[in-house]
Amino acid sequence: MWVFLNDRFVRKEKAVVSVFDHGFLYGDGVYETLRSYEERLFMRDRHLSRLRRSAEAIGLQIPIPEEQWPSLLHEAMRRNEVGTGRSDAYLRITISRGEGDIGLDPGLCPNPTVVIMAKALPPYPRSLREQGVSLTVAKTKRNLPEALSPHIKATNFLNNILAKRESIAAGTFDSLLLNWRNELTECTISNCFFVTKGVLKTPALDCGILDGITRGFVLTLAGEAGLPSEEGAYGIDVLAQADECFVTNTSMEIMPVTRIDGHPVGNGRPGPITSRLHSLFISNRVRFLEPPGHS
Ligand code: PLP
Repeated sequence: MWVFLNDRFVRKEKAVVSVFDHGFLYGDGVYETLRSYEERLFMRDRHLSRLRRSAEAIGLQIPIPEEQWPSLLHEAMRRNEVGTGRSDAYLRITISRGEGDIGLDPGLCPNPTVVIMAKALPPYPRSLREQGVSLTVAKTKRNLPEALSPHIKATNFLNNILAKRESIAAGTFDSLLLNWRNELTECTISNCFFVTKGVLKTPALDCGILDGITRGFVLTLAGEAGLPSEEGAYGIDVLAQADECFVTNTSMEIMPVTRIDGHPVGNGRPGPITSRLHSLFISNRVRFLEPPGHS
């Protein structure tokens, strides 16, 4: 595997960062994950904009000029021979505060550390899409936005990891987190939607969630298809009334959820609106695919 580290591509074994990197010491950094469909990146510019917003929110200057990102991402795919032919690629950009003396002051770190990784993104097993996945409602609460905004895609992921541990202990696919007001927020690496009486519902951004790029696309598709949808603040009771539920992220697209805390969602099978939205997603994603190559 080839990894881009600061200013060049190096072999995985040489892709090492200092133990004084504040990303390692304090989780001080931001990241972004994006994907390709075969060789074409999906919603590249939206991901790069979110990376910029996350970096700005923590006062981190991205040391790579905007116009270089597309070619770097393609170079990461090309070198790793992913995102070619019929295979898709998963890319992760990480930017940490960089190396500096021990201490919280970001001024101790003159140069951020930049890493780009690219690997194959195999399709999710068909069985998961056909049967749907299970969720646990976590006891761990989603970060309070005024404490650490979930809008920032930060390398400090302990909030999500603690919730993930709960789902692992429960033997479920993932955890669904509530906020400090016991409203639904999101899962550890995805946004959540549910359908009640034909209305698509998803927690509003101010419930304390990441502004998911897939979430935004699903809301657009629903609007275009004339499906009623709303963003709001929902308590856990809404899950018991839901006919359908699904989660979204860049690599899963739309994944049906058929059990929550051991109870079936609706009839316990992936629902028709979930399937319809996924079909719309597949037929419309071409609108947001970048041309192949370094453009
Ligand atoms: N919520 C969280 C906490 C995430 O980490 C992610 C993806 O990484 C998402 C939601 C989904 O975001 P996107 O659709 O942009 O991949």
